[in-house]
Amino acid sequence: MVAAGDALMSTFAVRTVTDLRQSLAPWRKAGERIALVPTMGALHDGHLSLVALAKSNADRVVASIFVNPAQFGPREDFNRYPRDEAGDLLKLDAAGANLVFVPETAEMYPHGFSTNVGVSDLTEDLCGASRPNHFDGVATVVTKLLLQCAPDLALFGEKDYQQLLMIKRLVRDLDIPVEILGGPIVREKDGLALSSRNAYLSPSERKTAPLLYQTIVAVANDLRQGRGADDAAAAGRFKLEAAGFQVDYVAVRDPETLKPLSGPVERARVLAAVQLGRTRLIDNVAVPAPTNR
Ligand code: AMP
Repeated sequence: MVAAGDALMSTFAVRTVTDLRQSLAPWRKAGERIALVPTMGALHDGHLSLVALAKSNADRVVASIFVNPAQFGPREDFNRYPRDEAGDLLKLDAAGANLVFVPETAEMYPHGFSTNVGVSDLTEDLCGASRPNHFDGVATVVTKLLLQCAPDLALFGEKDYQQLLMIKRLVRDLDIPVEILGGPIVREKDGLALSSRNAYLSPSERKTAPLLYQTIVAVANDLRQGRGADDAAAAGRFKLEAAGFQVDYVAVRDPETLKPLSGPVERARVLAAVQLGRTRLIDNVAVPAPTNR
């Protein structure tokens, strides 16, 4: 149990798989539907929207907070990734989560840990190209969390669209008995997708950052007007580079397979990843835009 000096926190947060399973047992015995929302903490309204979606689709909501070292590359931001456990627990309590799993690294990766879960399709390009072991790290930790918690439902954001598709495939391929639900991207008023990494942005970078969303919306509009996929993506890249972003990719892809599309398209996902100063930002939009949101 977490020593937060507070009775609420001591019943609300668990650090070991044994305590997690013990806390879940009565709910499971009562036939309650359990949802899991995995996170890396530093919670914002995007994470909390998944908790809300979980609450409306399940009887009990478990959130996990674990900054997973396996999904960070050696030159990435694992050490400086924002951490605010006490604040996160308060936010999760206010959002109505029933339990929070906050494992230490040694609980997830005990000495001698040597198993890797990898999904070969869907992960090789886009973010996988510039973050070589990232998706294996995500697939391994998500598999562990799903086995530890055994939820009926697990929720992931469309913000990490490639990750969401990979997890759906992973669960299907390994026959993990869980429903995967994607939640829509929550944005700032100016369009910037909420992200724990936005905290890294300097004031001037923060002013530039919404151009990422504006640009992929412009690419999506170009596609709707019949402009070819390659052409529209190239125009998006040009616009971002001109504004000072270091562009990793601007891509127009099949929304289910993530295969590249070219020429005029009717259904697609426009995805982009950029570096702005020291901060990596990703975003994506659907073509056509969803009508029910
Ligand atoms: P993270 O803590 O960044 O690993 O994110 C945990 C979950 O929250 C993932 O499923 C993300 O896709 C999701 N998420 C992150 N940002 C947003 C956002 N702006 N809107 C909706 N979901 C998000």
